[in-house]
Amino acid sequence: MLKLPRKPRTLFGKLMLSHLLIVALSLIIIGFFLTYLIEDYFFSAREWELAAQAQDAAYLVGEDLLENDIAGVQKTAETLAYSMNAKIRVLDHNRSSLYIYDPEQDQNNAGGEDEGVGLEEREINHIFKGNMLSKKVYGPVLQRLLVAAPVIYEEVRPEEELPAGNDSTDQKEPRVIGAVTLSVPLRGVEETIAHISRLVLYSGAVGVAIAAILSFTLSKTLTRPLQKINRAALDMAAGNFRGKIEEERDDEIGGLIKTFNYSVEQVQKYLEEQKRLEMLRRNLVANVSHELKAPLASVRGYSELMLDGYIQESEKEKYLRTILDNSVHLSRLVDDLLTLSHLESGQLSLEKKEISLEALARWSFESVAPRGEARGINLSLELEPSLPVFYGDRHRLHEVLVNLLENAIEYTESGGNVTLNVKQADSQIIMEVIDTGRGIAEEELDNIFERFYKVDKARCRSEKGSGLGLAIVRQLVELHDGYIEVESEINKGSTFRIYLPLSG
Ligand code: ADP
Repeated sequence: MLKLPRKPRTLFGKLMLSHLLIVALSLIIIGFFLTYLIEDYFFSAREWELAAQAQDAAYLVGEDLLENDIAGVQKTAETLAYSMNAKIRVLDHNRSSLYIYDPEQDQNNAGGEDEGVGLEEREINHIFKGNMLSKKVYGPVLQRLLVAAPVIYEEVRPEEELPAGNDSTDQKEPRVIGAVTLSVPLRGVEETIAHISRLVLYSGAVGVAIAAILSFTLSKTLTRPLQKINRAALDMAAGNFRGKIEEERDDEIGGLIKTFNYSVEQVQKYLEEQKRLEMLRRNLVANVSHELKAPLASVRGYSELMLDGYIQESEKEKYLRTILDNSVHLSRLVDDLLTLSHLESGQLSLEKKEISLEALARWSFESVAPRGEARGINLSLELEPSLPVFYGDRHRLHEVLVNLLENAIEYTESGGNVTLNVKQADSQIIMEVIDTGRGIAEEELDNIFERFYKVDKARCRSEKGSGLGLAIVRQLVELHDGYIEVESEINKGSTFRIYLPLSG
């Protein structure tokens, strides 16, 4: 039993098969039409030629037929059959065969009843009304073309010469006194068609081969990058980012590769961000515990010592102050944590009002001035004249500035400078806190706004710092639709710059 090829499952196979089918189908259709056209043309040409010959033959046998000269008819017909190379048949006015001659078989049949006239009754009627007729007949081996022409006698002489049995009374009308049929095998057509079919077949084979090669290369160029993308996507799913697919194309597949590369990049970025956040989250618990541990231990230690009576009355006040300081630090830490948690969960809302930037700057500056002076820092306040009114939360912006100023004082040595500068640039307010302190290393700059991030972890901090300040500052600035940036150079100083949009 014939086994059909398995249906191709790959895109590659489908493309190849469809190309080959298209080529084969086109060739079959072209071959079919060509055969039809050639046959038609050939047949028409032969028909036209044979019709002319049949008319000539009819004219030539007409004379003999009129005179009832059977021998003359036979002679003329045979000569004609030879010269035209066609089977000839002469019918008399009774519509019966008078003579048949086939030069191919070299047989004649005078008045013979052979295989039949090859014409139907109504066709003979048609001819004997004076019409030409042509048709295809199917011989034993080949198709044949048969053309019949009536033998017409134009009456010009008196009626006594009419052939016997003709009842026609209208002597002036042309009369049909017989017919001649010529038939030829349509051999040439079939040979030509066979030749053309062979040509179509050969060019078909070449076409299919070329189509196979073309579709093979085309399919390869289509499926190779798809396979690459597939492999890369599988790798990605397994958590293995091999990077981008290196292939430059400006077609749809190129677009797909670009999109894929972009997605890989995005997923990679997202995963890195997730990893970073996860690390921060894990650190948070450790950081909170760490920050709480030291002041709690100190409060507990001193309280126990006092209760156990180990501390003299004269020293009690000093220890009580330490306990108080630590408690203050603890409650500030808890406040900061609460603020931050409110900020991050979106629960903290601003109380926005129209505020004077000058008043805000002076208030913040004065809040930190005593501490700055105590540490021997030169503080200065630079305000651009006629600053506009700003719409924002006065207390939260004060918190922001104090935080930045306190950091600047904290991380600047005695004798250094700390400046608060407020100015307007277009539709923005720029507030800068500039110090000449120890600066921040470039690789730390991205991290200092993370909660609990401290640059110098070893040098354990004064009671104030918790690493939460800048995280809160950034969130508050962003709540005002602004942003904060920092420029810093080790041992030269830092500038924290806040941009606030005036429209907000
Ligand atoms: P902290 O409460 O520890 O100051 P912050 O969030 O305010 O926490 O600051 C985070 C870290 O950034 C600090 O530990 C410090 O190392 C660094 N930093 C902040 N401001 C300055 C500054 N003006 N100069 C140098 N380092 C700074």
